[in-house]
Amino acid sequence: MEKKMYKTETHIHCSESSNCSRVSAVEFVHRFKDAGYTTIFITDHYYRKRFKDCETEEDYKAATAEQLAGYHTAKAEGDKIGLNVLLGCEFHINDDDYLFIGIDESFFYHKEIGDMTPEELFDYCNANGYLLFAAHPFRDDCTPKAHAVHGFELINTSYNHYDQNNNDKALELSKTHPHLLTTGGADAHTLNDVGTGGIMTEEPITSIADYIRILRSGNYEIINNKPEGR
Ligand SMILES: [Zn+2]
Ligand SMILES: [Zn+2]
Repeated sequence: MEKKMYKTETHIHCSESSNCSRVSAVEFVHRFKDAGYTTIFITDHYYRKRFKDCETEEDYKAATAEQLAGYHTAKAEGDKIGLNVLLGCEFHINDDDYLFIGIDESFFYHKEIGDMTPEELFDYCNANGYLLFAAHPFRDDCTPKAHAVHGFELINTSYNHYDQNNNDKALELSKTHPHLLTTGGADAHTLNDVGTGGIMTEEPITSIADYIRILRSGNYEIINNKPEGR
């Protein structure tokens, strides 16, 4: 008998918090559930503009609520229909796009993160227990700093950038740096992204700790489907 596999999408942007996304949190939750996923990560873009003028705790609270509107809506809907919804964030720093794993809301109260060098950023993540991943490491101007990340997206199936992800280069990186963790994600901004990416595991991922443990174990498969229309 074939083993049951559980699907997790690791990289999603909702229209509530990421202007570039065409799909709302509620719609994504239902579409991923329908596509057979057990778990999704909401990784909305960190906008410097959103936090630029934050000085007081109240300012940060308001900006964080905006930042997490997509996540909170997705989480509430996921709880209702039985889909695990986990928090992440994509942050553009020094011309690279990073995915932060293991964060909570307090992460957003530290706008100085955006001014760190890659090495400072890596130290900061280690000190705070976050995992730092290079998102779509060879797309456009991105140049992964292999010495200063925990891992990277080996496969990115983004519909919007399907021909620019250069996953073949990421495969080379995994060969030269086998100690780095690897994952897959659709970088979902459209409905065409649903079902194209993420990872498959033998057990459901219900927490960040599950995700990290499974990535470290190597016991998972990366999903790599071509989006419809590409
Ligand atoms: Zn985007
Ligand atoms: Zn993204």
